[in-house]
Order: sequence, then structure tokens, then C-alpha cells
Amino acid sequence: MRRSGVLRVRLTLVSACLAGALTATVTACGSPAVGTAPTTTAPSRSPAASDPATVARSPTGPGGTTPRSAAPGSTTKTSRVRSPSATPTRTETSPAPLIVIDPGHSGTSRRSRAVNGLRDIDYPNYPEIYEMFDVSTCVARALRADGYRVRLTKDTALGSASHTQRAAVANDHHAALAISVHDDHGVGPAFQHTYDQRGTRRRDGSYPQLYRGTGSRRTVFDDPAVASRSQGYARTIAAARTKAQGRRTTVAQNSFDGRAPLEPGNLALVQLFAEVPWVYNEMGALTDGDPTRAMSITSETRYAEGLLAGVEAAVPLTPGRPNPVTDSASTLRPCLVHQVEPREGELSRPKRYRPDGFTR
Ligand SMILES: [Zn+2]
Repeated sequence: MRRSGVLRVRLTLVSACLAGALTATVTACGSPAVGTAPTTTAPSRSPAASDPATVARSPTGPGGTTPRSAAPGSTTKTSRVRSPSATPTRTETSPAPLIVIDPGHSGTSRRSRAVNGLRDIDYPNYPEIYEMFDVSTCVARALRADGYRVRLTKDTALGSASHTQRAAVANDHHAALAISVHDDHGVGPAFQHTYDQRGTRRRDGSYPQLYRGTGSRRTVFDDPAVASRSQGYARTIAAARTKAQGRRTTVAQNSFDGRAPLEPGNLALVQLFAEVPWVYNEMGALTDGDPTRAMSITSETRYAEGLLAGVEAAVPLTPGRPNPVTDSASTLRPCLVHQVEPREGELSRPKRYRPDGFTR
């Protein structure tokens, strides 16, 4: 059940795809091809989930909101619809928590208008788009094996989905947690972050507004309950990733400033549009100084292990109680190998984007 929310001011967003994003066109979170992407209207259907048993329903609108045009000079507001309960509760008969996994980037360049007229832009990014779909798919399988319900925001590596559609998958199905899974081939492995919907605390103890857009398009994320939960989840996932990846992962705040035509701001669009806790993940994946070279299966496995452990620690099957120990993490590496080579001699990626050992 949903209830009507009060008018809420929303502003925006971030970039997990930071540093290397400004230069190379093929870096993990590189800038989109400015001026080349066609302007399109967001399709009316959500992208299908990868699990045939969990096909996504049609979204009702961007993040469940109704875009409105602001009066000149006024502060942009959006009418939000919220779930009645800010805190998830579950009983013995409740369904397992739903986790939405959002593999980074769209297989085709997309430009559409989202809430408040924000430009919703995404673009293919290689080899990230293959790597992150495979990592997401294998984490999803492991979570399902452990008893979770899982949806992906697209069903193939090169599937196309806008940020609005991605958010709708989690909003429409009331996900307990959504994670975006990205890597950045423009920066090295010292770059390891999670990003939440609360932002980085200032010296005076306050938090900044998280927003995207300027002028009448400026849209702020203003759900304190979701922001707080996402902060806790981002910290938990960062700790699990640190342990699994052997690299210190920290909770950071994004920046999309200076990356036109992306809307400026400090929060990822998909997190801005979300009505559920959403943790955005980035890992530096520059390999041998070549931004087009795929990372190793070992690096993919460690990232997947951290995400799996982090999600399960953040949202255990039974609230407040750690999950039973399982061997699901041991399935990740063979799953990732299988994703690259589904059958002997049959490879899923173009040669230049295959990990070492799959270059034939
Ligand atoms: Zn990315």
C-alpha cells in the first residue's frame, strides 16, 4: 500500500564514474558521446529482469513521480509517493528480501527527459558493460541460492535501460536494497567507493543536499529515512568489499559537475529517482595502463565476493540476525568464467574485452 506524500523538494547527484570519465571514450565511466545520442522518449516498459520468474512490471513513471514544470523562479518540487513504513519489517511468513542489482550502463546511447525535465543520459561503456553485467549476474545467482529474491535492471549485457527505468524496477517492487555495479577503467585499483543517498557529513555535522540539475530542473533527494538506511548499507558494503577485495573501500560523495551534457550535481540519477535505499558501487579497474583492457577474472571475483557479502550483511534474511554460512561465494568464480565462456570455444564478449585466458 502506498500513501500520498507531502510535496518534497528534490535536487540531485553524483558520479561514481569520476576521474577517468572526462577523457577516454572507453573508460568505465567515460563521458557520453556528446551530441551524438538521439533524443528519445523513455519506453513505457521496464527492462526485463534476468530471471524469467521475475519479469519486471511496467513502471508508472520516473521514480514513481509525476514530472511537473516549476513556475519561473520557484523551487522545483516533485510530488512523491512513499511507502507507509520507513523501516523494513518482516515476519516469518513474509517473502524474502528483494534485492535489485543494476549493472552499469546501457547497451545503446539514450537521452530522455526525466522528472522535472532532467536529462536522463546513459551510454555504452566498454569493457565495463560486459564485466559489470557478468558480476551482477553471478552475485544475483548466489543471492538467490541463499534465499533472496533478486531482480536485475536489464537482461543482457548490452540491454538498454534509462536511469528512470532502472529506478522504477526497484520502486515498483519495493526493493529492500538496490545496488548499482560499476567499474572505472580510467583509474587504478586504489579507487574503491560506495555512494549513498545521504552524502558526506560536513565538519559542522550537517549533510549537504543531494541533487541534480540547475535552475528549474534542480531536483533534490529529500527522503531522510531512505537516506539514512542507504548510508548504513553503504558502510556495510564498503566494509565487506574492503575485506574481499583487499583494497580499502570508502563511502564517498559523487560529482557530476563539469560533465555536460550530464546534469550537474552530486548524486547518481538512479539514486535520485529511487524511493528505496540504493548503494552505488565503483571500483578502479585500469589494467596495465590500458583503459580498454579487461580486468582479470580474479578481480571480478573479488568484487563479486564483496558485493555478495555486503548485501547479505546489510539486509540479512532475518532482520537483526546474520545469515547462516553458505558456500555461495565459492560459486562466483566458476559463474564468472561461465559468463565469459558459456560453452567451450564459445565466448560472450568481443575479443578485445575478454579477460586474460580467454583471448583466443
Ligand atoms: Zn560506470
